[in-house]
Amino acid sequence: MNKEQLEEESGTILGREHTCERNEIPDHLKVYRVIAIEGEAQTHWELFSLWLANEGDVESGEAETVGELLNLSSIKVNYCPFCGLSLE
Ligand SMILES: [Zn+2]
Repeated sequence: MNKEQLEEESGTILGREHTCERNEIPDHLKVYRVIAIEGEAQTHWELFSLWLANEGDVESGEAETVGELLNLSSIKVNYCPFCGLSLE
């Protein structure tokens, strides 16, 4: 899932991504600065957790296609949860 798709799914406008070498599952967990939510200006960072369908999910009927978004959640963070960098 790219940034534009994540923005669309989460109703946000996203700024910089903190791409972290210590993040062992970068397709699943992403750290972005949030510029706006539903049109309201924001200045914080969020850790996004994306659950994308794999082949097993398609076989079991949980999803139609591999890569389909099954679940999306996020929490505000002040520090990178992987490397501890203070996010500004
Ligand atoms: Zn980091």
